[in-house]
Amino acid sequence: MSFVLEHMRNNLWRGKFSSFPEDLCVHGLTGRLGGVSQKPYDSLNMALHVGDNPADVWENRRRFLHALGLKAEDMVTPEQVHGQHIVRVGRAEAGRGAKEYEDSIPETDALITDELGLPLVLCFADCTPVLFLDPEHLAVGIAHGGWKGTVKKIAQKTVMAMTKEFGTKPSDVLAAIGPAIGPCCYEVGDEVAGQFREAFPYHVEDIISQMGDKVHLNLWQANRLQLMDIGVKSENIDMADTCTACKHQWFYSYRADGGTTGRMAAVIALNKY
Ligand SMILES: [Zn+2]
Repeated sequence: MSFVLEHMRNNLWRGKFSSFPEDLCVHGLTGRLGGVSQKPYDSLNMALHVGDNPADVWENRRRFLHALGLKAEDMVTPEQVHGQHIVRVGRAEAGRGAKEYEDSIPETDALITDELGLPLVLCFADCTPVLFLDPEHLAVGIAHGGWKGTVKKIAQKTVMAMTKEFGTKPSDVLAAIGPAIGPCCYEVGDEVAGQFREAFPYHVEDIISQMGDKVHLNLWQANRLQLMDIGVKSENIDMADTCTACKHQWFYSYRADGGTTGRMAAVIALNKY
């Protein structure tokens, strides 16, 4: 299993997990290169809610989804409010949030579907993208794991929602944890660390580390371990192990870029036959 940045065309790059079978689904994680947005959103900003020119965002979305062989007009994207609400979407939701943020799926932080060819798109800058494929029931999902979503176990709950909706067995699930702020750079306060100690009593040593007098949080492991806790196999969880703050020349980082910046997107869709 591995994560690579693959060049598609015209300085447009795609983060790709080797573990997701390309005959079943198409997926990609954007970087910040190859788009049309101006500073401070330069250049492949995928989010409408950060103050960028909406026409530029649409061009970026169109470019990336088109390069993946998907219809940008059909993409479905949620509002993302750092909650734990998960929505199953289908053909009726195609295009929700594609061109207008107001039209996105409200108060939602994870999407699941079994509709072929429907691109699920979520936006990130330091928060953890978690992608899912159930190769047995042919269903996919994406969750937004910022610290709030991660401590609420949205990744785990997304798999449980797939179980309820599609009959997904956690032991069949392929999961992937995308680029996000790493334990190297993610300093948190006592209040946040305390919430993680409470939510992950068996994994504190893997998630929280002391660096000098600072406390650092490992969102990658907190998402991985919560999936293993419900039966997702360790060997089925691919990890990008890529810190967006360390590598912010390649990725947007809310912390490293100092607040106003663009967002990457994570995209997944079942192949249309
Ligand atoms: Zn780092």
